[in-house]
Amino acid sequence: MTPHLTESKSIDILIVDDTPANLRILSSLLQKEGYSVRQAISGTVALNAVAAMLPNLILLDIMMPDMDGYEVCQILKQNPQTADIPIIFLSALDEGINKARAFHVGGADYITKPFYLEEVLARVHNQLALRHAELRNLELQNQLEERVRVRTQQLEAANVELQNEIQERRQLETQLLRMALHDGLTGLPNRRLFLERLQQALDRVHTHVHETFAVLFLDCDRFKLVNDSLGHLVGDELLMAIARCLHNLLEPEDLLARFGGDEFAILVNRSTTLAHITQLADRILEALTTPFHLNRYEVFINASIGIVLGDRHYNAPDHILRDADTAMYRAKASGRGQSKVFDPAMHQSVMQILRLETDLRRAVQQQEFILHYQPIVDLRDNQITGFEALLRWQHPERGIVFPGEFVAIAEETGLITPIGQWVLREACQQASLWNRTRGDRPISISVNLSARQLAQPNFIEQVDLILTETQLDPQHLKLEITESVIIESAQAAADILLQLQKRHICICIDDFGTGYSSLSYLHSLPINTLKIERSFIQSMYSHGDQKEMVSIMIQLAHTMGMDVVAEGVETQEQLNKLRHLNCELVQGYLFSRPVDAGQAGLLIQELHASVSL
Ligand code: C2E
Ligand code: CA
Ligand code: CA
Repeated sequence: MTPHLTESKSIDILIVDDTPANLRILSSLLQKEGYSVRQAISGTVALNAVAAMLPNLILLDIMMPDMDGYEVCQILKQNPQTADIPIIFLSALDEGINKARAFHVGGADYITKPFYLEEVLARVHNQLALRHAELRNLELQNQLEERVRVRTQQLEAANVELQNEIQERRQLETQLLRMALHDGLTGLPNRRLFLERLQQALDRVHTHVHETFAVLFLDCDRFKLVNDSLGHLVGDELLMAIARCLHNLLEPEDLLARFGGDEFAILVNRSTTLAHITQLADRILEALTTPFHLNRYEVFINASIGIVLGDRHYNAPDHILRDADTAMYRAKASGRGQSKVFDPAMHQSVMQILRLETDLRRAVQQQEFILHYQPIVDLRDNQITGFEALLRWQHPERGIVFPGEFVAIAEETGLITPIGQWVLREACQQASLWNRTRGDRPISISVNLSARQLAQPNFIEQVDLILTETQLDPQHLKLEITESVIIESAQAAADILLQLQKRHICICIDDFGTGYSSLSYLHSLPINTLKIERSFIQSMYSHGDQKEMVSIMIQLAHTMGMDVVAEGVETQEQLNKLRHLNCELVQGYLFSRPVDAGQAGLLIQELHASVSL
């Protein structure tokens, strides 16, 4: 505790002097001022008094018999407990105070005798005030140090906390980065990381022109089947097993990635030859054909692999992936479980398809389609009984484009739906017109339907609407559907066929014989006509099994109560044979190629005269 040195009451002053008169004078003077005063008659007494209680100030006579003031002062200054007590020396003027020594031993001031009371008080006050200030200073310094200590402690704690937080954040960051660059299921690198590494491989072959690398793009065939039939958990299990299997076939410097779904990519990050890479692809394909023993199932899987050899001709990693993807699709298209190496012609054909698709979208908007009509002749009276409506695309630059070139893409893109709807309306309109203007014999119209059209939920309503709008008698509409369409969408197709039958619309199975025939199933459906595919008609005069096929098909149709159209009749010979086999309807170049509506109208008038019997 710091004594309040300004409040004189509690201030203790020790006066040391061997002259009792001096002690008295000074004591009374200081006591009057409110100080508490102790007296010591010698140095030894003084030291004892100090030891008993520390005074705030000492007035110390220099000249004393047993121990002089300097010595007392020195002793006090050497003891850390007493060293700070201010000491004012007392000395008679004539005794000659050694000022240098006085200050040297640690004295704060001196007062000469005889005492001038004001001077004594002033010097005592000064020293006390100085001491007070010193102590205050010390206190402040202590406080400051304490604050610094506490603050330092706080900072240290905050620092530790911060370090922990940084550590946590770093861990989180690495985790996030891992997640951003890896596939959650297999833990393999994902597309992003693969592209990064591919870029590095590209950089390498750009600086070292003789080096190469390769990319294998792998897609499982019919993986969806596993997911759909055995469930997604089994699918996931299989994917992990595939990842392990692939991993085992690769070198440490190769990179295996999963792009999601059942797609994997491999970067063979070293110079290799095409032969090596195709061997690797073969090894992969073979490894995949051995069954995977999963938890509860044993699963077989096939894959298709697209291969790209990377060299300095490539500039962007995504071009490499694009080409690998193209090659993979080629592999898939040429049968399952194969690999294909990319060649630029593949890219060309992809580009062509893309262009066609864009053109086709425009064609739908701008109504670039027309219909041609090919007559169907009834051999019983050699009259035209109807026409098949065949779609043509009037391409602004390329002229007439045939359906073989665009129908498949129209189906894939769904564009066949609006196109097919237009075909149906246009064909019905035309047939209705022919029937209204030429009353002697009704003309039927055959319209080809695609699977997509049948799959539309409102297909029947569309047909109803078109028949009402065009006022065509439903009996004169024949819808041609291929076997495969019927078999693929079995239940839906059966319902629709029944609806159509109720309306007396005729159903014709198109391209009969080429598909996957399930005669008993077809028999259960309301089908009116079988249309025998052109290739059978053309092989009637060839050798081998095909020869008898047409005859069998015709008999079969008749047994099932259906009539028959023979398609693609080109020669008189074929016609004769068909007549002989009791085929009732024929269609083919022998009578006419598909022609526009105007020419078809003329044919209706002419044809029966020109058909030879
Ligand atoms: P498809 O239904 O089998 O049509 C018969 C195809 O055989 C037509 O080809 C026709 O021009 C051709 N053809 C007819 N007689 C002969 C012949 O004596 N010899 C030869 N070599 N060929 C003959 P096109 O017009 O090129 O049509 C091809 C296919 O495109 C059609 O085969 C059909 O599947 C599809 N298609 C045509 N129009 C449409 C349509 O409006 N909608 C849908 N979904 N498909 C259509
Ligand atoms: Ca047809
Ligand atoms: Ca056909």
